[in-house]
Amino acid sequence: MNRPRIRTFSHHCRERFGQTIGKIPLDLGITCPNRSKGGCLYCRPASFTPFSLRATDPLDEQIRRGKKYLLRNRFTRYFGYFQQETATAMATAQLIPILAQVLEDPDCVGIILSTRPDAIAANLPAALAHLIDKSGKECLIELGLQSIHPASLQLLNRQHSFEDFLGAVRRIQAVGNLQLGVHLILGIPEESETDMLQTMQTVCTLGIQALKVHHLQVIRDTPLHTLYEQGHVTVFSHKGYLELLLRLLARIPAEITLHRLWSTSHPDLLVAPRWQSLTGALSKELQRLMTERDIWQGQQANSK
Ligand code: SF4
Repeated sequence: MNRPRIRTFSHHCRERFGQTIGKIPLDLGITCPNRSKGGCLYCRPASFTPFSLRATDPLDEQIRRGKKYLLRNRFTRYFGYFQQETATAMATAQLIPILAQVLEDPDCVGIILSTRPDAIAANLPAALAHLIDKSGKECLIELGLQSIHPASLQLLNRQHSFEDFLGAVRRIQAVGNLQLGVHLILGIPEESETDMLQTMQTVCTLGIQALKVHHLQVIRDTPLHTLYEQGHVTVFSHKGYLELLLRLLARIPAEITLHRLWSTSHPDLLVAPRWQSLTGALSKELQRLMTERDIWQGQQANSK
């Protein structure tokens, strides 16, 4: 087959922009509202902060350093990626001018806002839609859900429900020109493969454009680390995770872009699983297995 077996972010960008596009992580310097409620079980911001990003830098300096250290000579254009904490916890009136400033850079093709379902203010979707119309660029909102199952959301201390998520989806989709992505974790304690498949299939029916999926990682000094040390958490082997992906990928509709299939937490903070393979090698291995077994994304997207 000529088309790629997975609709990766780079494949999507080549199709949409005629070239691959980088992401520059940006930090607004605000704190996720869930931290005052204990934070998510697995979360430690330092584990997903790239070395080049300093929250104390003004945004134009963060972009300059991102271009220098992350884009280097690999990409000429980028998405401003507000991945740190919960960007939309900032008041809409304060956030929109900041995003407008980022979108003014001709090298910036759009913004990605990583956030929580309960942090989409009533006036935010319309304000973002107006900004995106004016700029002619793109906005993807990545909603962290992790699982549709109430027991898992409670265990992870997400402090929102699946219904909160559905409400945020409706409000975002109502304005028409915002793209929507969902972030899921595979391997949440007590979840079976059927539970994970149910989550995946449910979110794939919601008209989303992107998925960010990764395996559960235990990060040092998080509440999940304590549970892991007490023997309550099982993590995937790299072979086991690839086999799970091979079974799930065929169920994901071919038009959904997969921004991520595994985590890449800072090695100094990662307790488990400590696979020896780097992401490039994992990706090659997955592609090889998909070719050998003739599996492709979307192959069984309509099967129950
Ligand atoms: S919502 Fe995101 S940033 Fe906030 S505590 Fe949870 S994982 Fe961390």
